[in-house]
Amino acid sequence: MMIDRQARKLLFETVARRVIASAEELTDLDRAIGDGDHGTNMRRGFEAVLAAVDELSAKELGESLKGVGTTLVMKVGGASGPLYGTLFMSLGKSLADEVTREQAAEAFASAIEAVKARGKSDVGQKTMLDVLFPVARVLREGGDDLTARLKETARIHGRTSMSENVGIVIVSHSADVARGTALMVEQMVGREVPLGWCGGDPGGGIGTSVEAIMKAIDQAWSERGVAILVDLGGAETNSEMAIEMLPEERRDRVVVCNAPVVEGAVMAATEAASGATLEAVRRTAEELTPV
Ligand code: ADP
Ligand code: MG
Repeated sequence: MMIDRQARKLLFETVARRVIASAEELTDLDRAIGDGDHGTNMRRGFEAVLAAVDELSAKELGESLKGVGTTLVMKVGGASGPLYGTLFMSLGKSLADEVTREQAAEAFASAIEAVKARGKSDVGQKTMLDVLFPVARVLREGGDDLTARLKETARIHGRTSMSENVGIVIVSHSADVARGTALMVEQMVGREVPLGWCGGDPGGGIGTSVEAIMKAIDQAWSERGVAILVDLGGAETNSEMAIEMLPEERRDRVVVCNAPVVEGAVMAATEAASGATLEAVRRTAEELTPV
């Protein structure tokens, strides 16, 4: 895809307007664990991007992105200024005007690594990384309905990463079933429960993967613990394996529920959203099992 001057301008304006429109939500999130200025900071930075958008988008994509990054570093302030600045500057280092999906995915992945290095942080610490990581994974996978899946992934992880409730992981042999179940949980239970999901074997076929399950546990991680819902036998075996391979201090706080995957996920998430303990979440899901 060719990203010409007009496309660059549209891109920067769209991102800036989206951030500015979300300023209140960002401030609310920051109020929960910070000082409640994140939205104000981000709005200031992206208003500066909008004000200079013609000038910023005049250069080729790499330089334009570096210009946006510099503007953010100068204007956002807070902890987030240098981090978002780093994200855009790093993208600028690796992207040219002609971009394939693979190149965009690679550039995005290295930009996230740069943010990690700058902030000395990692997934599971309730930062932007909890959203950026899963989005990067979906971008790397590509496939049908990519835009819709990127949006879904960002929305779900953005909303749930702040929660203190027990997390829920959905493991199916099919990526579509896992994602569909996660969407149902999000619709029916709302934003209060950290969610992770995965489906498919490492080659992309029907099956499950220990590595993907471990990542999903990271995504849904909560100090209160994580309950896993599985569909068929192999999903259970691989989930138990994934739990064994977790760091020791996490191992005891993850359980596999003996319950049907869709109903179990909805019931477990409903219970988790009420602030229940891991044991109570598991019991509620398992009450569905026919005796
Ligand atoms: P401040 O924390 O200085 O008030 P902001 O409120 O603008 O700055 O930004 C806080 C947000 O920045 C956090 O909610 C988090 O999402 C993100 N953040 C802070 N530190 C890090 C970090 N080390 N790695 C990634 N993201 C971070
Ligand atoms: Mg703040």
